[in-house]
Amino acid sequence: MARDARDRRLKGLAGFSPRPERLAALEERLFDVIVVGGGITGAAVARDAASRGLAVALVERDDWASGTSWRSSKLIHGGLRYLKTGAARLVFESLSERARLMRLAPHMVRPVEFLFPAYRRRGIALWLLDLGLTAYDLLALGRSPTRHRRLSRGELLRLEPALESAELVGGAIYSDAWTDDARLTLENVIDAGSLGAVAVSRVGVRGILRDASARVEGVAVSDQESGRDLRIRGRVVVNATGPWAEQSWVADDPPARPRLLLAKGVHVTVPRARLPVARPIAFPASDGRLLFAIPYGPVTLLGTTDTVYTGPLDEVAAEASDVTYLLEQAKGVFPAAGLAARDVVATFAGLRPLLSEPGVRVEDTSREDAVLVSGSGLLTVTGGKLTTHRRMAARAIDRAAPLFAERGVAVSASHTRERAFPGSPDVPMGEFLSAFVALAGSATPAIGEETARHLAWRYGSRAPLALGLTGQNPVLARPLCSGLPDIEAEIVFAARHEDARTLADALIRRTHLFWQAPRQGNEAVDRVATLMAGERGWSEPARRTAIAAYQGEVALSRRFRDSS
Ligand code: FAD
Repeated sequence: MARDARDRRLKGLAGFSPRPERLAALEERLFDVIVVGGGITGAAVARDAASRGLAVALVERDDWASGTSWRSSKLIHGGLRYLKTGAARLVFESLSERARLMRLAPHMVRPVEFLFPAYRRRGIALWLLDLGLTAYDLLALGRSPTRHRRLSRGELLRLEPALESAELVGGAIYSDAWTDDARLTLENVIDAGSLGAVAVSRVGVRGILRDASARVEGVAVSDQESGRDLRIRGRVVVNATGPWAEQSWVADDPPARPRLLLAKGVHVTVPRARLPVARPIAFPASDGRLLFAIPYGPVTLLGTTDTVYTGPLDEVAAEASDVTYLLEQAKGVFPAAGLAARDVVATFAGLRPLLSEPGVRVEDTSREDAVLVSGSGLLTVTGGKLTTHRRMAARAIDRAAPLFAERGVAVSASHTRERAFPGSPDVPMGEFLSAFVALAGSATPAIGEETARHLAWRYGSRAPLALGLTGQNPVLARPLCSGLPDIEAEIVFAARHEDARTLADALIRRTHLFWQAPRQGNEAVDRVATLMAGERGWSEPARRTAIAAYQGEVALSRRFRDSS
């Protein structure tokens, strides 16, 4: 048993087994549950179901987290603004999950202090802010990293000199946490795999397979890499496709068909030097909405918009009006920065899959999750947040218990409440950091302390594997882009251990050069393509095609320049 647990732990550290093996398992086995969609929702449902001993298949038609799940504000938060809409239950649950994730995934979910300035004629009054933050602290039941405190106007300006000062009356500092959304999704998938789930990306579902009495008996899928069609047999199918949850294959099963309201949210990054904030700032927009300016290494992330979206789902992009809105609002609070569209490093836009509530404004529409169950064996899980993914997944499988029972499958309780994520170190994070920096210093002095710390935060206990690649081939210790700690070994690690199959996977979701690096990582693209080609066995034409595909992603993120 101990050996089994150790083997599973090693599997979790190493990541994915070879794709052909996983594809073969999809075709050969009969699964208790097939989860469709590899965003945070599907990944968490697969992990939860596997933790209960169910036989699980998880398929994603693109890359893990390639839908909404890498395009979030990257916060694990209670959602201060939801207090305004009276969603205390959601805030309470989110704060409780925030505390849990900081414990179970300390390398990916890090506490951070936000500054909240209050202005005379803009946003929320200081006394109301204080009241709201007191409620926020109380709902956290003492598990907040620090309690909020009021700050005078002078204190605020000392901490953040770039803030507009004429109308500033004071403010507060409060705690939340940030995460790497794509990696949180990925570690859910890896952990599901170490619990026995078969997880394969680039496998898209085309239709449901049903028996003579219309009961679900599997899904018909296409392997996007070979173009081959295959069938996966399973007793229950979970539709966790986020914004795509109303697709045709769900439409003929009304109980599981959601009515979605898609709310588009845009972020932009600008060089940190152009918007020099020392810590995350939550600030009021002129229309009363709450926006964030969050420093991430060399850039500041500004977000987000919240508008109804009805366009094509596969081409969501920031338009000129979105970018103008964010820059204008930022100028209201950081006037000296004088931000303009030419400062934008990157943009990204995602769709919040919300359940439509007739007559309710988009910003007031509930962020709670919903589980729709059809007796046929199809289940749709939608809504929710990154923050509450674990609870949402457990609820979904609990709700499906009668379906499993009818099919003769016993469902035990979820085991994710206290289960650490694959990269979670066995010792406190501070201790792990010091030990890893010392190890890196003796094993590969060339990488330096900043890169060692970066690897420790990004991969947690999996970092020695990434570092080990530089021992085998010292050239891989080279930085990818000037001004960033990312190194070449991470690309090899992404391809070998993290299922990265394209340049976008490596540059957007395994590393963040797409939105953090000058010119979206242009200086590294050729080298990254060569490293990926080495791992994947691409020919020179395939390598060039991969570069062109990445440049297509870059162009989409810069489309706002053409739409102005
Ligand atoms: P997705 O991530 O979109 O996943 C669905 C997946 O299904 C996709 O990867 C897609 O490729 C796949 N798929 C579709 N069709 C098929 C098919 N036929 N076969 C196989 N696969 C298929 N939450 C927070 O907690 N904190 C935040 O700071 C935060 N900020 C946000 C900011 C913005 C702008 C937005 C839009 C959301 C934010 N959220 C935040 C909410 C959170 O990001 C979403 O709730 C969550 O990512 C939704 O995940 P999902 O898995 O349901 O959808």
